[in-house]
Amino acid sequence: MSLNDFNKLGLCAQLVNVVKRLGYTEPTEIQSKTIPVALAGRDLMASAETGSGKTAAFLLPIIERLKPKGAPRALILAPTRELALQIDANAKSYSRAARLRTVPVVGGESAPRQIKALSSGADIIIATPGRLNDLIERGAVPLKAIEVLVLDEGDRMLDMGFLPQVRRIVRHLPRKRQTMLFTATLSSAVERLARELLIDYVRVEALQTRATVATLTQKAYPVLSHAKIPLLLALLKQHREETFLVFTQTRRGADRLAQVLEANRHDVVTLHSDRNQSQRNRALASFRSGGARVLVATDVAARGIDVDDISFVINYEVPATADDYIHRVGRTARAGRDGSALTLVSPEEEAMLAYIERSAGVKLERARLNGFSDGRSEEQIRLATEIALLRSPSRRSFNPSRASR
Ligand code: ADP
Ligand code: MG
Repeated sequence: MSLNDFNKLGLCAQLVNVVKRLGYTEPTEIQSKTIPVALAGRDLMASAETGSGKTAAFLLPIIERLKPKGAPRALILAPTRELALQIDANAKSYSRAARLRTVPVVGGESAPRQIKALSSGADIIIATPGRLNDLIERGAVPLKAIEVLVLDEGDRMLDMGFLPQVRRIVRHLPRKRQTMLFTATLSSAVERLARELLIDYVRVEALQTRATVATLTQKAYPVLSHAKIPLLLALLKQHREETFLVFTQTRRGADRLAQVLEANRHDVVTLHSDRNQSQRNRALASFRSGGARVLVATDVAARGIDVDDISFVINYEVPATADDYIHRVGRTARAGRDGSALTLVSPEEEAMLAYIERSAGVKLERARLNGFSDGRSEEQIRLATEIALLRSPSRRSFNPSRASR
């Protein structure tokens, strides 16, 4: 089915006008494939690359089907507060005409205010699992009328970190409901877990894959560890007008790097889970508005975050998994725009990068900036990588603890 007209998907004219006014001239592939299925009330497992418009793919059918009623009928779960707040903002902009009330329920913000908003008539709840469970325990979340459950970043919602929380929430939901899972990355393990929640579901996949997105440039810069900061400073200088999202592996690493960049007179903000929510919100707002040109973040900013016109994603360190790589680089080159994802790779990290290239199905061009060669020839790097891969072939050795986010 290839429906490239919002009018033909089964949405009402009013809603189609709303999205057209937002500049969505035609539906993306995942939207045209999922919206009719979602409108029919079917369970859904949908996968499509980062930046392909999955949010509207689940929000529009929900908004189409719900009539304002004052009891929550839809529940959307997301892994980070920033993502939940972003989905809430999208939902508000799509549903204004439909007069639906959306309430974000996320950690780090006033619980009493959320409880009050829930009791004064919410139609759509958009939540992170931790806070939602808190409020459920306090009896503050009416879930009896929920008709639709969405797991955004579905693979993350079903991994070991979140699965127990999600199961607890689902126990409070009516059995008879529609459940939809959206994800950019999907493993067979996740698909097996998802069967716990989905009934007689339709599996939808957008065929385009990140590896073939023409607007994304992906490169690796081989560099000695101690030369990473000078290299990053040189890149920032070379692209004075552009915005940079820089990922570090740890929260402390993010703070340290931000200090150095600040000392070099760059407008920097940081986002990680050691900062309080108002600091996190301010950082993201300032990066969105262009007040800060550089955002230094941990993987908490990797999933789902949609900021217009991020020119560069920098992996200051090689990420721990191929999924992390895919989600990070997915913050740029969104919705058809240009973008670059550059990975700084020290000799010690070459083997891990090779592993990621293999599992993500990408081959990164090796780039060099004058004065920042690590002194080795291409051939030396290739040999060192092969040897390292032979020594430690298991995934485990490339997957250091993810606990330090
Ligand atoms: P995903 O969840 O697949 O990573 P998002 O839902 O965050 O992607 O959407 C990425 C960007 O594309 C957002 O800025 C969104 O407003 C925009 N977008 C969504 N649908 C369309 C469309 N049909 N036409 C143009 N832009 C769209
Ligand atoms: Mg998304």
